[in-house]
Amino acid sequence: PQPNPQAGAAVKAADRAHVFHSWSAQELIDPPAVAGAEGSYFWDYDGRRYLDFTSGLVFTNIGYQHPKVVAAIQEQAAKMTTFAPAFAVEARSEAARLIAERTPGDLDKIFFTNGGADAIEHAVRMARLHTGRPKVLSAYRSYHGGTQQAINLTGDPRRWASDGAAAGVVHFWAPFLYRSRFYAETEEQETARALEHLETTIAFEGPGTVAAIVLETVPGTAGIMLPPPGYLAGVRELCDRHGIVFVLDEVMAGFGRTGEWFAADLFGVVPDLMTFAKGVNSGYVPLGGVAISGRIAETFARRPYPGGLTYSGHPLACAAAVATIGVMAEEGVVENAKRLGADVVGPALAALAERHPSVGEVRGTGMFWALDLVRSRETREPLVPYNAAGEANAPMAAFTAAAKQHGLWPFVNMNRTHVVPPCNVSEAELKEGFEALDAALSVADEYTV
Ligand code: PLP
Repeated sequence: PQPNPQAGAAVKAADRAHVFHSWSAQELIDPPAVAGAEGSYFWDYDGRRYLDFTSGLVFTNIGYQHPKVVAAIQEQAAKMTTFAPAFAVEARSEAARLIAERTPGDLDKIFFTNGGADAIEHAVRMARLHTGRPKVLSAYRSYHGGTQQAINLTGDPRRWASDGAAAGVVHFWAPFLYRSRFYAETEEQETARALEHLETTIAFEGPGTVAAIVLETVPGTAGIMLPPPGYLAGVRELCDRHGIVFVLDEVMAGFGRTGEWFAADLFGVVPDLMTFAKGVNSGYVPLGGVAISGRIAETFARRPYPGGLTYSGHPLACAAAVATIGVMAEEGVVENAKRLGADVVGPALAALAERHPSVGEVRGTGMFWALDLVRSRETREPLVPYNAAGEANAPMAAFTAAAKQHGLWPFVNMNRTHVVPPCNVSEAELKEGFEALDAALSVADEYTV
């Protein structure tokens, strides 16, 4: 990349003057100006290049600027850039077919949205109408999106400012052995006690009032906690017993991230509704959706579904999905995530954990990994407190700065760094990233006790 600091300064100036950024105090942020991106890398206007271990916001599952997907978007733009949702359109039909062929079980009807949060909004609406019940249960340590219902379902501090804006949300604790809420010492105990807790929550809320249980199949931003064996099957059974709709949120975990097309495939569970977005077209054009089971589709077979969007199944976004799914199949992207996850990422992160006392736990699968950073391995006290800001967050800020100095753009959330590169990342790129991570973890080690 050719440096062009002047152009970068203009981009930055207009941003600072007019762009209102997500989740931020506008005067306290300094958005880096990005000049370009390709594959697993992006670069700034000063010619600094970064290896992107974040896949954007965990969405560029095939990396940036894949030529086949770029070409498909260009072709679709030339052919039919847009069309209203009430028509059958080639790109939309084909995207729905390719997605439905890959979703588990009988999730064969696809309702398209613009992204993940609105997919959650519609999944919850479908569940409420299907059951005629008001409440929705979701987990602490979760993220479901920024719109009213989705942010209320979310189990992280981003919810707090919007609490109460959507009725009928009840939070419960999902399993997480390393920081167990159930005093469990084994996965078997964690599964059994988390299920008992959920069952009791349902009993005390009133089973006849609960429309849906919404869970990320593998919680993403909240820390990549793979549910222990038997947990999701147990939730499925509770839902069946009480006529509750089981919604799995695969917005982050879906489309190859876990080394399977969908994370539900890791556990052999089939939800009633499944939300997706991000990886469906690598985020090249905004797209999300809900995959709908036969039983729920039946509810709306002769009764209108009261919901829609101007851009539901936008042809450009759907053409990007068709091309992305094609690339993933042709290039073995899901298999790559699975193989390199098991053979390269897992062992490399375990080796880093051996060397660095700040690493409390390594967990994950495919291209979906978290390092839980701690002040002390013995007490498991997080390297920074929950929701730390300013000085209290200094250790994670120092870790992040060190990674960037070494050319790695890290995903950081609270006391964790996530290793979530594109699913088609190469072994050489991974090794380059782990060298930078090694250096940055040495900085984190300085804050251990
Ligand atoms: N659900 C999960 C699991 C997510 O990770 C996200 C975004 O990070 C969302 C929903 C919201 O998606 P969007 O930002 O496209 O609305």
